[in-house]
Amino acid sequence: MRRHRNAKIIATLGPAACGEALIGKLFEAGADVFRLNASHGTHAEHKKLFRIIRGLEKHYNRPIGIILDLQGPKLRVGEFAAGKILLKARQSFRFDLSEQPGDSRRVQLPHAEIFAALKAGMNLLLDDGRIRLRVVHCGKDFAETKVVNGGELSDHKGVCVPGAVLDLSPLTGKDLEDLEFGLKLGVDWVALSFVQRPEDVIAARKLISGRAAVLAKLEKPLAIEHLDEIVELADAVMVARGDLGVEAPPEDVPVLQKRIVNSCREAGKPVVVATQMLDSMIHAPMPTRAEASDVATAIYDGADAVMLSAETAVGDHPVAAVTMMNKIIKRVESDPYYRTVMEAQHRHPKATDADAIIAAARQAAHTISAAAIVTFSSTGSTTLRAARERPGMPILGLTPRIGTARRLALAWGVHSVKVPNLKRFAEMVDKAVDIALREEFAATGDQVVITAGVPFGTPGATNILRIAWVK
Ligand code: PGA
Ligand code: MN
Repeated sequence: MRRHRNAKIIATLGPAACGEALIGKLFEAGADVFRLNASHGTHAEHKKLFRIIRGLEKHYNRPIGIILDLQGPKLRVGEFAAGKILLKARQSFRFDLSEQPGDSRRVQLPHAEIFAALKAGMNLLLDDGRIRLRVVHCGKDFAETKVVNGGELSDHKGVCVPGAVLDLSPLTGKDLEDLEFGLKLGVDWVALSFVQRPEDVIAARKLISGRAAVLAKLEKPLAIEHLDEIVELADAVMVARGDLGVEAPPEDVPVLQKRIVNSCREAGKPVVVATQMLDSMIHAPMPTRAEASDVATAIYDGADAVMLSAETAVGDHPVAAVTMMNKIIKRVESDPYYRTVMEAQHRHPKATDADAIIAAARQAAHTISAAAIVTFSSTGSTTLRAARERPGMPILGLTPRIGTARRLALAWGVHSVKVPNLKRFAEMVDKAVDIALREEFAATGDQVVITAGVPFGTPGATNILRIAWVK
C-alpha cells in the first residue's frame, strides 16, 4: 500500500470519539501519523488508541508514526457540570481554585500563578483567543471578570494572559507522568508544548534519552527569537498556529509560518503546519475556500506534514477531513508550479559525505528520470537529508529499525520500510529493487538510485551511490 503524494497527514485522535473502525478509515483515507493529545483523556484511553494503531500497522504492513503531545505549561480552565457553557457579552464570570464543576457563573482555574500575576483591567483570552474577558477585580485565589467577547466554553479550554509574565517550568508534573507513560508504551515522537528556549528542548532530550524523537511545538512568539537553535536541537518542529496566534496578532502568523518552515527546511528537520487547517469541517462536510487555500499554501511552502486537530478528534466529518486534505495535497503536488517552487528553493548540500552522496543521488535520479531514490539508513538521518532535497521522485527509506521507519512516516516524500540488517552491498541492491517493485514504486525497465553506507547499520556512514535496473 502506497500513498501518491509527498507531504504527510497527521490526524489527532480524540479518546472519546475515535474507535478502531474510525481509526482504520482515517488511515485508509490518508493519515500517516496519529497524534495522542495528553491534554485530553486518560492513560487507559491513550493506551487503547495506541494498541489500535499498532494493530492497524500490522494489518496494513505499513509503519505508522505515533506522537504523544504533552500539554506543557498550558493554562486551562477546569470542567463544567454540563461539559460546556455559553458566555454572553457583558455578563460576569468568576474564576477560582475550587474543584467544584463549573456552571454559567464560575469555573475552576487551577493555576495559582495566574491569580498571582493578574491585575484589574487585564484581559484573559480563552479557547485560542475566541473568548475575551476583562478582569474586574481579583485576589490570590479568584478573579471576577466581565465578558467582552462571548461564545461557547467547554472543559479544559486554554487560557492566555497577554502581557503577564508567568513563572512556569516547561515540563509540568503532569507532563513528566505522561512522558513516562508514553515512553513505556513506546510512542515514536514526543511533542513538547510551549517551548520557549533552546534549554527547554535540551532538558526534554535528556529525560527522553533517545527513547522517542522530539518534536518542538513553536507556539510562543518568544521562541522565534531562538528559532534556528531550537530547530537544530529538535528532531522536528510544529508551527502550532493555535496558540501562536493567541499571543501574536493574526497577521503575524503567516509570516512566522514561512520563517519557521524555511528554517526547518534549511536544517533538514521535518516541519508540521498545524491547527485550524480545515476548521469548519468540524461541523461541515466541506471546507471553506480559504481553508483549502491554507492547506495548499503549507504544501507550496514545502512543509513535511499538515495536521488535523479537532477535525478528526471530535469533528462530525473526520474521514471527510482527511480525504479532503489528501486531495488538496495531491492536487498541489501535481501542479507544475509546485515542482518549479521546489526546484527554486533547492538547498545547498552541507560539507558532509552524506550530503555529497545525497546531492549526487538527486542529480542522477533527475538526469535518468529514476522511479525512486532508495536510502539505506539505520537512524534515518541520511533519509532525512534526501527529503531535504525535495526530489522529483519518491524516496524509499529502508531501515532495519522499526522505530526509524515509524518516525520517518512524518517526513516529506519518504515511504519507509523495515528491512533485515543486510551485510553485503549486492544484497542491498537486490533488496532495494525488490521493495521498489513490491511497494509499486517501480516497474520492470525502470531505474532506481540507491544510497547506502557499508557496512550497513553504522550510523553516518553513507558512502555509496548506485544506479540499478529493475528487472
Ligand atoms: P494544541 O497545539 O492543539 O496542543 O494546542 C497546537 C497549536 O497550539 O496550534
Ligand atoms: Mn497549542
